[in-house]
Amino acid sequence: MEKTDIGLIGLAVMGENLALNMESKGFSVSVYNRTAPGEKGVVDRFVAGRGNGKRFTGTHSIRELVGSVRRPRRIMMMVRAGEAVDELIAQLTPLMEPGDVIIDGGNSAFQDTARRVKEVENRGLYFVGAGISGGEEGALHGPSIMPGGTPEAWPLVKDVLQGIAAKLDDGTPCCEWIGSGGAGHFVKTVHNGIEYGDMQLIAEAYALLKNSLQLDPETMHRVFAEWNRGELNSFLIEITARIVHFKDPKGGYLIDRILDVAGQKGTGKWSVVTAVDENDPLTLITEAVYARLISSMKEARITASGLYPDARTDLNAMTGREPDDEKAVQAEAIRDALYAAKLISYAQGFSLMQRASAHYRWDLDCGTIARIWRKGCIIRSAFLEKITEAYDRNPLLENLLFDDFFRDKITAALPAWRSVVAAGALGGTALPCMGSALSYFDGLRTADSPASLIQAQRDYFGAHTFERTDAPRGEFFHNDWTGRG
Ligand code: NAP
Repeated sequence: MEKTDIGLIGLAVMGENLALNMESKGFSVSVYNRTAPGEKGVVDRFVAGRGNGKRFTGTHSIRELVGSVRRPRRIMMMVRAGEAVDELIAQLTPLMEPGDVIIDGGNSAFQDTARRVKEVENRGLYFVGAGISGGEEGALHGPSIMPGGTPEAWPLVKDVLQGIAAKLDDGTPCCEWIGSGGAGHFVKTVHNGIEYGDMQLIAEAYALLKNSLQLDPETMHRVFAEWNRGELNSFLIEITARIVHFKDPKGGYLIDRILDVAGQKGTGKWSVVTAVDENDPLTLITEAVYARLISSMKEARITASGLYPDARTDLNAMTGREPDDEKAVQAEAIRDALYAAKLISYAQGFSLMQRASAHYRWDLDCGTIARIWRKGCIIRSAFLEKITEAYDRNPLLENLLFDDFFRDKITAALPAWRSVVAAGALGGTALPCMGSALSYFDGLRTADSPASLIQAQRDYFGAHTFERTDAPRGEFFHNDWTGRG
């Protein structure tokens, strides 16, 4: 039988759609899925169902799968992250030959990927950890793909990965080599963290529009749809516009019947833990993760809302404007606050990538990363083009906030951003991300911070010493604060 171009393990939502995507781009695909004894085969069902009449070869063991793919073999895993990936690598490696490539397209932790790259390379094979974003639809029609791992593997997998990736209008694929070791999965982790931040920021804007401005669902739909036509144009704003006025078959709006408890699978938390490890302040994404944790404390929130019911909404404080200002003007202020806070989130995310890149010697290209996120993935947006342009202007840009374009944007949005955050505080609306973004911004632009007091306290109780502003950096002093020596 003719050998196929690539093998794919794991026919759940993502794997099935990626296999169909590959086949539609001209690749023949061998498919395999672990099936419990006695179950009707997932593989047979797929090949006879959605794969019917297409260039798929159904296989029923790892040996059969490996044997059915032409050399150098490319075998991609789309399975649950964690032990399953290690188990499959253990089964694959004895059957594969030098120069063959194993690709992990799941959401693996980047440290696991770095370890697997070494383990698989020690067996003479290549390993690619590819972050894939775009969910079910993206997998089928074109996701954003972030591959990293053994550099020699890139020329061997490039045609497939770039072939199935989303394309920009000029045809550029949303898939580019990210770097060695766990670089691809690291960048996917930051992507997911940014996704958490974007979603929480939009939820905060929704809370303000709904509760403070008391807009009805149809007006909110128009506001989000309008935002989506401007510089906030993005997949998440687009779907939010649809969600807020989606009718429930039982009457009313579906959003009002959805329990306000946000789930998470842990990739947001991974970004936060990594940022702490790298000593990089990723405050907005951290607050987004905490906001989901607070949302899950439903019973406690009900109790607290009974104990502390007096949370006023001060509409006038929202924008600092007069009481008879149009709600549309206030909605614009909320949009500006959302834009500014989003910029802070990306500035923090890219800063983390730069920090980790230096630490792990990945040589990450921030402009390219922003480019491959522009289509196919959940955080796709017009905004990312501006980030690429900023890194094109200065590839060594230390912080996105130092770019002229973004400095002008933040400066213009600042008055509205401050008044919206203040109004949230006065009115009792939690704005953890818009607020923490503003604190980060103010902290960053404070040349003389109160950290001098922290250093003094540390020296007072622990003789930790301090540097002086009138002495060279690196020279440390201790003061006898109590006169007792
Ligand atoms: P999933 O629910 O994460 O995983 C199910 C698949 O893993 C099934 O094919 C399952 O086989 C297989 N599997 C589990 N344990 C296994 C083991 N020990 N050995 C062999 N196979 C095993 O599926 P998914 O949602 O399609 O996601 C696949 C990967 O893509 C995951 O890493 C996920 O995090 C990542 N991802 C998902 C999305 C998304 O939107 N869903 C987006 C991006 C990335 P059985 O059928 O035999 O149980």
